[in-house]
Amino acid sequence: MQTNFSAAQLADPDVAESEKILRKCVHCGFCTATCPTYVTLGNELDSPRGRIYLIKDMLENGRPADKEIVTHIDRCLSCLACMTTCPSGVNYMHLVDHARAHIQETYRRPLPDRLTRALLAFVLPYPRRFRAALRLAKLGRPFIGLFEKIPALKPLSAMLKLAPASIPTASPMASPGIHPGQGIKRGRVAILTGCAQSVLDPGINDTTISLLTRLGVEVVVSPGEGCCGALVHHMGREEAALASARQNVDAWTSLLSQGGLDAIIITASGCGTTIKDYGFMLRLDPAYADKAARVSALAKDITEYLAAIDLPEPVRKPGTVVAYHSACSMQHGQKIIRQPKELLAKAGFIVREPREGHLCCGSAGTYNILQSEISARLRDRKVRNIEATGASIVATGNIGCITQIASAAKLPVVHTIKLLDWAYGGPKPEGVADETLVAAE
Ligand code: SF4
Ligand code: SF4
Repeated sequence: MQTNFSAAQLADPDVAESEKILRKCVHCGFCTATCPTYVTLGNELDSPRGRIYLIKDMLENGRPADKEIVTHIDRCLSCLACMTTCPSGVNYMHLVDHARAHIQETYRRPLPDRLTRALLAFVLPYPRRFRAALRLAKLGRPFIGLFEKIPALKPLSAMLKLAPASIPTASPMASPGIHPGQGIKRGRVAILTGCAQSVLDPGINDTTISLLTRLGVEVVVSPGEGCCGALVHHMGREEAALASARQNVDAWTSLLSQGGLDAIIITASGCGTTIKDYGFMLRLDPAYADKAARVSALAKDITEYLAAIDLPEPVRKPGTVVAYHSACSMQHGQKIIRQPKELLAKAGFIVREPREGHLCCGSAGTYNILQSEISARLRDRKVRNIEATGASIVATGNIGCITQIASAAKLPVVHTIKLLDWAYGGPKPEGVADETLVAAE
């Protein structure tokens, strides 16, 4: 694509980066076929190619964002299916991240939208605040129907619908400390405890620590680590996202100098995509660029890590049929395709992949709150495809997808690590009926 940026514009490194990305696009439109919003809404401006034109026009003319571009960029899930499909290697992720930061800087959203976004940024990345908010949500439940009818309160209604009926207690395993590996030491890793996942399902990281230590891997929870920054990053809050990135880089760099690390284990693929991008996000900060690149290189999804070590034979051979839902951040963001399926199959599960596996389930960070109608359409389509597999359980590697799919599916939805842990001698995943797994033993 031809571009017309001035030399002065290109002096801004973010604009220069976006210009490089724009020039790679050859307008072929292959990406439209796999874009969930284009498939759902049928509008070119809600396709990757349409958004690329809108972003180009806004950046090239140095214009502040307007209502039209905000509407279509807000509808983008950042699922990155377009990057998987694009034959020209267009880095849509970095382009849309730049557009979102530009929108945040130059566009004044209507007051209800500003308040909703400020609330999400204030609450979600902080486990204590999030836990308190979930308790409050119980009081708001009776008003879901009322909020649903008032357009400005729809996000509140979506939040209340997604809030779990019971809130698990915080796990002591998530506190900073060392979990020594059993037997012969096979490695040393740090684990991201994160934010929303540690509140909604602390068992995911507990299970991961338990399985890794049984396999002889020492697991360290670093003091000072926290939210990866993805939630605010996707809202265009660049400074907040970079602050989270720097905090985590500091925490893990200090571990690197005290005994080294083989990997930084991440159990939510949405966080994994962002942490693997820290090197890019902090490339312009001389104090952090090298450290951030090192952290990104060490970041591994738990399935990526397990696939690279020699696993013993499973204790159980379940034979249960599992529908594997590959989160967008897993398959498109991190290009981790085969490892989770191969690990499940090796552990004795029969793995089935739902049709249209490339399409997002509509979770996408805060998307199911901010764009609840499109999100619900995508979720229902996903659940129909999952249920058509005839599986008795759903496995996936991202807490956002677990919450989203479980809000509509009849099947239990669990993190992949819980099924693997069970096959390798751990307890049966909580909330899964005996007959779902045990009958197949
Ligand atoms: S990130 Fe997903 S929703 Fe956004 S343009 Fe690409 S395919 Fe479409
Ligand atoms: S597939 Fe790639 S090159 Fe083709 S229109 Fe989409 S982004 Fe541009």
